[in-house]
Amino acid sequence: MIAMRTTLAICASAIFSVACLGQQDFSGVEIKTTPVAGKVYMLEGRGGNIGVSVGSDGILIVDDQFAPLADKIKAALAKLGSDKPKFILNTHWHGDHTGGNPLFGRDGTIIAHTSVRERLIVKQELFGQPVEPLPKEGLPIITFDHSLAVHFNDEEIRVIHLPNGHTDGDCVVVFTKSNVVHMGDHMFAGMFPFVDLDHGGNVEGMAKNIANVIAQLPPDVKIIPGHGPIATLDDLKTFHRMLVETTDIVKKRIAAGKTLDQIKAEGLPDPWKSWGDGFIKTDAWLETIHKSLSKSP
Ligand SMILES: [Zn+2]
Repeated sequence: MIAMRTTLAICASAIFSVACLGQQDFSGVEIKTTPVAGKVYMLEGRGGNIGVSVGSDGILIVDDQFAPLADKIKAALAKLGSDKPKFILNTHWHGDHTGGNPLFGRDGTIIAHTSVRERLIVKQELFGQPVEPLPKEGLPIITFDHSLAVHFNDEEIRVIHLPNGHTDGDCVVVFTKSNVVHMGDHMFAGMFPFVDLDHGGNVEGMAKNIANVIAQLPPDVKIIPGHGPIATLDDLKTFHRMLVETTDIVKKRIAAGKTLDQIKAEGLPDPWKSWGDGFIKTDAWLETIHKSLSKSP
């Protein structure tokens, strides 16, 4: 029972990871398409939100969810003009953002940060579960270290690396004319995020990265978060404030000599209480911050 409970708890909090793929049933998942702004659409199914650029040059996608959903995603893209995206941008290596790579990589060019390719090419471990490497056609063939631009559908699509935040190889994608940004997992709208401390992630680094992004975005930008509904700049600012304030709370409790168990028992005040209703529960979030602070330089 305890073992089963543990598995369930891990799966509930990791529903967006490949770790529990074996236990997940994707048959009922439908792909929903929503126009965001300009030439950009968002697809939702299960896993990370997909950004799509649609225009006379064809289709470009940002992330591609889980492998078992790839055919459904293809069908949704066909309705937007083509089921063969010319470019696939990966915001980071997690399987709920790169699972469709082996299918879409057959016809399209996958682009990602150097560390994403390094992670996907060998076996990884996430939530204590093995994550198998992707086949050759699923790997990024163009990699970058700092930033890159794709000139596509009459706009500059900027891909910008964010160091040590959600992982160490994340990027955000800015659709400069459409005025849309895909935040990857540097934004979970209205819920505590997963921060992958074992693969270069860091809570304070994430807050710093987001502050840098906020400073560069126009007030009327539309935001595609990694998880959650389409958001505004104010929503991103709230997410940033959550990171800073909950981190400060944990720092103060550590300074007062409290143990992790005591920190958890005290919980979090409003307005952050309800943020634990998502993937990552309040206890798991407090533990993430605690662990991240012990790793910070
Ligand atoms: Zn992720």
